[in-house]
Amino acid sequence: MDNKTLKEGIEIIDSHFKNEGLSRRDAMKMFGTGGAAMLMASSTTEVQAGSSDAKGKILIIGGGLAGMSTAARFTNSLSNPDITIIEPGDIATSYQPGQTLVGAGIWDKSEVVYNTNDFVPDGVTIIKDKAVEFDPDNNTVKTAGGKTVKYDFMVIAAGVVLDYSKIQGLGVEKSITSLGDHTAVDHVLGKNGITSIYYQQGSADTWTEMQKFIAEAKSGKKVKGVFTHPNTPIKCGGAPKKIMYLTDARLREAGARDNAELTFYPNGGKMFGIKDYHEAIVKQFEARDMKWNYKHNLTAVDPVKKIATFDKHWEEKGEFDKDLEEYEMIKKHENVEVPYDFLHITPPMAAAPEIANSPVGSSKGWVPVNKETLQHVKFPNVFALGDIAAVPMGKTGGSGRKQYKVVVENLISVMEGKELTAKYDGYTVCPLITSIGTVMLAEFNWASKKPGSGKNAAMLSFLDPTEERWIWWLLKVYALKPMTQYGMLAGRA
Ligand SMILES: Cc1cc2nc3c(=O)[nH]c(=O)nc-3n(C[C@H](O)[C@H](O)[C@H](O)COP(=O)(O)OP(=O)(O)OC[C@H]3O[C@@H](n4cnc5c(N)ncnc54)[C@H](O)[C@@H]3O)c2cc1C
Repeated sequence: MDNKTLKEGIEIIDSHFKNEGLSRRDAMKMFGTGGAAMLMASSTTEVQAGSSDAKGKILIIGGGLAGMSTAARFTNSLSNPDITIIEPGDIATSYQPGQTLVGAGIWDKSEVVYNTNDFVPDGVTIIKDKAVEFDPDNNTVKTAGGKTVKYDFMVIAAGVVLDYSKIQGLGVEKSITSLGDHTAVDHVLGKNGITSIYYQQGSADTWTEMQKFIAEAKSGKKVKGVFTHPNTPIKCGGAPKKIMYLTDARLREAGARDNAELTFYPNGGKMFGIKDYHEAIVKQFEARDMKWNYKHNLTAVDPVKKIATFDKHWEEKGEFDKDLEEYEMIKKHENVEVPYDFLHITPPMAAAPEIANSPVGSSKGWVPVNKETLQHVKFPNVFALGDIAAVPMGKTGGSGRKQYKVVVENLISVMEGKELTAKYDGYTVCPLITSIGTVMLAEFNWASKKPGSGKNAAMLSFLDPTEERWIWWLLKVYALKPMTQYGMLAGRA
């Protein structure tokens, strides 16, 4: 990093901390101890502990980031909380955003593994099981272990499943989750150059395979790295690119970049849904000689021959429709075979089938909610949040951090027979790691590329959000994890 960048970064930090009434020394201490959400202090909401006497049995499906944080906030907000969580996993609250850093050898896997039990709020009952049958007309849920659980109010926060089984040739027979049992993929992923940071062990294996790839490039072999983005909504839409940027950075560090060709194959036709961020990313790719081919969806892998097959798709003009006064558009497809030495797979993702196909699911699988109040469209005593909620954009922990406050406030209003007043505005944040030491902090909501003022404002909103900055690297690598542990999972921020 040159002196000018360093100076600019320090000035930015100073000006922010001055606003927060902190000296740089104090702020850096907080980074180190991870004690508080200092950079986000302006966007946190005070907890009103025990502020409602509302009563009712609340059942939360899924004790991951969104579910456990919601339980904590209910515990802080109700004088008489009666909360049960159904969660099958022992490490459900682990820090998934850190898996990108594990994948590039910046963190060790042990730094992102948390025991679920350490984050269960006092007084909350955990049922270590899976919810498999939903009867919202009778307010009951059945677990795989045969238990029937009755509720007055239910919050669904069961995340997504990773469908590696949809990719032919991998020989994967069932879906897995990011922090659950991954034995279904162990025979093929995390070896022979096939990697995926989307599940925890996969992220550690990605670093092992990446080092072999770099060693091959360093030995003088011309190598190819291929990075995919599927045709379904995914959590953390930036992660498929982040791991590519980090591969680029690690190759440069090793002095081996010239021997590697890195290509991104997204199913979509752009780098990012928001024009300014899309344009910034295109420039960053060009500057790093990273290549891309839009509208390619990974359909098959031959792990022996090391060939990835993509469905390349596009539209062509067909007949002119005189009544509609427009051309019919015809979808075209072609199979494209791409050899690879290192393949990073971002798998297709979906809501867990036991929820998607139940009365609380929908034809698209996601739990249908009012996108602002997060209340179920059919069952007023049911809410959903996090990755499983049918909300446009935003399958990120950053969106969950806004959503869980809305769910708690609105569900308490339902319990108290009041109108729902809290609204989610679509806030999402994607700290796009662009190298070791820089991040572009893409913050946006449904209305804007850069959320405006008040408690929903962007962080350091006076800065151009399309710039890559090391301050955001500090935020990503040092601050976001403690903020999640001590802020969100404690129901505070
Ligand atoms: C590689 C990677 C990088 C990421 N990077 C970022 C980032 O930089 N910034 C960011 O904000 N976000 C990031 N995310 C996304 C973020 O981690 C998720 O959006 C967040 O964890 C979603 O929380 P959730 O509670 O909805 O789902 P999860 O945390 O996945 O929890 C869902 C829980 O539901 C449980 N469950 C599933 N089915 C059932 C059932 N039938 N019954 C009971 N329980 C069930 C599961 O066991 C799981 O514990 C990243 C994710 C990954 C994988």
